Order: sequence, then C-alpha cells, then structure tokens
Amino acid sequence: MEREILKTVGKVVLKEAISDKTKPSAIISKCMLGFQCRYDGKNKPLPSHLLEWLEERFYLIPFCPEEVALPTPRPPARFIGDQIVDIYGVDKTEQFQAGAKATLQLAREKGVDYFIGKEKSPSCGIKKTSAYLNGQECKCDGMGLTAKLLKENGIVLISEWDIGKIEIFKSELEEGKES
Ligand code: SF4
Repeated sequence: MEREILKTVGKVVLKEAISDKTKPSAIISKCMLGFQCRYDGKNKPLPSHLLEWLEERFYLIPFCPEEVALPTPRPPARFIGDQIVDIYGVDKTEQFQAGAKATLQLAREKGVDYFIGKEKSPSCGIKKTSAYLNGQECKCDGMGLTAKLLKENGIVLISEWDIGKIEIFKSELEEGKES
C-alpha cells in the first residue's frame, strides 16, 4: 500500500513539474499525499484510488500551513476560543496565522481556486477541527484557521471526506462558487 501511495505521489509531483494547466489547480493538505509533516512527524495518506480520483480532476499543489512557522514534529495544538494553544499551554496562534497567510499567498500566486483539506486539523479542517471545549478535548464542528481564511477569500473548500463523492462534490463546488 505504502509503495502504491508513493508511486501516486510521484505522479502528482511529475504533473506539477510539467505544469498541466488543463485542469483547475487545488492546494491539498500535504500530509494526505504521504509527506511526513504532521505534528507527530507522520502522515495520513489518502487511499490510492482517491488520489487517482483527485489527479484526474485537479492539478495538485501539496502544502502544509503548519510547517511555515513551526517545526516537525511539534506539540499538538487545539483551539481554545479564538486562540490556538499547544498541549503545554503555549499560545501558537501567531504561527498558525502565518501558515494560513502563506497558504493564501500561494493560492494567489498560482491562481488556485480550490483547497482540499485534512479534517480535524486546527489549520486544514473544513467540517471538523480540534478544540478544547468546556475543559475537554473534542473534534468539534468548525474550520481550521487556514481553511477559514481561504474561504473568506473565495477559495472553494473540499473536505477529504467528500473526495470521490461526485454528487456532493458537484453541489459543493456550485455552492462555493455562488458564495
Ligand atoms: S497543517 Fe494541514 S497539511 Fe500540515 S500536517 Fe496538519 S493537516 Fe496536514
């Protein structure tokens, strides 16, 4: 499976190299393409059939907002109200904001219209994000900082949970373009 995924990642990178402009561009959470950029130094690769589904439709640009101003590995962080705080109680909001702004800048430079995000992340989550609520950790409804900033600037968001679901995908794109 791992080898299959890496093969697919290779194809994605190759497509970037040849600048396939026949498809719309999409920034995608880098950890979903097999890059080890998560807080624990690991990845969360998509199954190869979902990667192929994406590759058929998009020119993919892998990016990790949290690596802009934070090291890998790094302590996990969660929303507490509007702040993002790591497990040691250190406020990392500024670093997360730097990642969000860098992603938006990349989107503008590359003329990107879509963002495909990893769920439950305080940066990339689209339907769910990580938070402390009432003193307890939860995966709550809500958007990560990067996803929110991109949406506010007209980028259409696609949740990892909707990859491969063509009907939902179409309706989300229409909805995104209208808003
Ligand atoms: S910030 Fe986004 S791309 Fe980076 S590890 Fe977290 S979910 Fe993946």
